[in-house]
Amino acid sequence: MPIVQLDEHLIDQIAAGEVVERPASVVKELVENAIDAGASRIEIATASGGKTLLRVTDDGCGIPEIELALAVRRHCTSKLAGGLDEIATLGFRGEALPSIGSIARLSLRSRARGAGEAYEIVVDHSHCDGPRPTALSRGTVVEVRDLFQRVPARLKFLKSDRAESSAITDVVRRLALAEPEIRFEISGPDRTTTVFDAARNMGERIAQVLGEELADNAVAIDAEREGIRLSGFAGLPTFSRGNSLQQFLFVNGRPVRDKMLVSALRGGYADVMAKDRHPVAVLFLTLDPADVDVNVHPAKADVRFRDPGLVRGLIVGALRQAFADSGLRSSSEGTAGILARMRAKADAVTPAPRRFDGFAPGGFAAPRQTPYDPGASPFRPFAGTGDAGTPVFEAPPAAPRQEAAAFAGLAEHGTTDDAAAAPAPHNPDCPTTDDFPLGAARAQLHGNYIVAETPAGLVIVDQHAAHERLVYEALKAAIHGRALASQMLLIPEIVDLPADDCDRLCDNAEDLAALGLRLERFGPAAIAVRETPAILGQADTTRLVRDLADELAEFGTRDTVLSRIDQVAATIACHGSVRSGRILKLDEMNALLRQMEKTPSASQCNHGRPTFIELGLADIEKLFGRR
Ligand code: ADP
Ligand code: MG
Repeated sequence: MPIVQLDEHLIDQIAAGEVVERPASVVKELVENAIDAGASRIEIATASGGKTLLRVTDDGCGIPEIELALAVRRHCTSKLAGGLDEIATLGFRGEALPSIGSIARLSLRSRARGAGEAYEIVVDHSHCDGPRPTALSRGTVVEVRDLFQRVPARLKFLKSDRAESSAITDVVRRLALAEPEIRFEISGPDRTTTVFDAARNMGERIAQVLGEELADNAVAIDAEREGIRLSGFAGLPTFSRGNSLQQFLFVNGRPVRDKMLVSALRGGYADVMAKDRHPVAVLFLTLDPADVDVNVHPAKADVRFRDPGLVRGLIVGALRQAFADSGLRSSSEGTAGILARMRAKADAVTPAPRRFDGFAPGGFAAPRQTPYDPGASPFRPFAGTGDAGTPVFEAPPAAPRQEAAAFAGLAEHGTTDDAAAAPAPHNPDCPTTDDFPLGAARAQLHGNYIVAETPAGLVIVDQHAAHERLVYEALKAAIHGRALASQMLLIPEIVDLPADDCDRLCDNAEDLAALGLRLERFGPAAIAVRETPAILGQADTTRLVRDLADELAEFGTRDTVLSRIDQVAATIACHGSVRSGRILKLDEMNALLRQMEKTPSASQCNHGRPTFIELGLADIEKLFGRR
């Protein structure tokens, strides 16, 4: 076949292939146009997940009659006056409208500011009609009908109406976060109406879009390095989620999903978050447009920085600093690392003089060590304020309360406040050290660590992690056996969630009930939890339900939920575990140790972290220089 020049319609369709993947990408382009037009109100209406109808209405500057035909023609834009180095608008390629017009029926009605009349132009699969006069008081209304109806290859790949409409909501949420002063409204027969009223500031908009909770569970970020500014909010590591859908990253006001930025975000949390958890964050990067190339991909979700190392360093450094300033604990590591660090610390301490050297200044006390440097400290980073060592982020230890059945198989003896376990090496009720691999419990430290004596040394158990594992194994057994017992909540717990999440939870209500979690719809955007698995004791129901919703969002269909039910169980187990901070009696500790010995893979919690560490006598002796 000879080389031929493609016709315009085909060229537009090819461009559409890159710009328009699904209804949500159309919404993204149209809403971006409305933002570029200086709108203060933007309304989005959808039907059938945007497949049959998408309408975006704005009160922006509008398009003059003589420019309407250009607006729908390829490579025509009003936004590139400053060249590619100075892009200050979201659009600049002049591709979106002609692309959309090639794969759908597009109508553009607009009244330019100051014009006496409004005009409409219609593009039906690249056939252009108009402009002709129409009625509209101001701004622009863009309507897209029957998207992909004549592109079967694309139509096939669209997901359910519900999935497409939730993707649209997600796109709008992202853009709304970047533009707090604009009022957004999404409505239509396929959804419950969502409104983000014009907000006074970013904090208010974040609360509207992501809920008040984030504000209470985040640190503010504001850092600058060499003319690049990073601002926004980073969720506390304890506020982590099961997927990355709650990460909102912006470069000069443009929502992006850039790999480098996502990895920098991870880097900032590396020390404080388990590998399978995802931080919640809303971060804005502001820099000279000349230092970032947004013209990398037609959908403009990727960007390229002139100095990626600088940007990464800024993000990682700012996050770590913010956590350090707020007094967050870093995570633990394996015994070998601990030993190495203990040894290093021992080496660094100047030994006390062996002999009395008189009262010469400084002669007796070991010289003061160099000032505390949180970055260099192996135990970074505690807040230097007040009660040293109390991580500010953790909820204050709740008053001890009965956790009925929280420990399957563990005896509960009245209230626990009298039970602060003191070392009791000679308690005749306690097993002797050589009876069991995990030894005999001797003490509980810091409300979470059980110290047990074994013939060969000592074992330190993380009671929270250990119990999590035990609950997980019990849930897994329940999945393959009969349904787990549940406990009725005295008052149903109401959890506010986006309508999509509620839908997904209700779709899977039956399977969750088999695990002992009974929930039902409570209005358009809330779930009522009536029963929780008895084995969990008093879990944080709200957080559990939110995490499950995240997980279901990621799994998609019910089939995948079933095939990954173990993961659902792991999520539930994580929430049901005995909080650290709960005081245990010696026999409770020993019961936990015995149960760990019986349970498969009890040496790791569900996140892959160890549930206990073992320190051999030989190691201890080495540390004290006895060997
Ligand atoms: P781009 O946004 O990259 O310039 P588009 O194809 O999305 O390309 O739009 C083409 C042109 O149409 C824009 O440059 C703008 O001048 C005009 N336009 C599109 N939508 C609107 C709107 N909602 N309000 C005002 N002008 C608009
Ligand atoms: Mg555009």
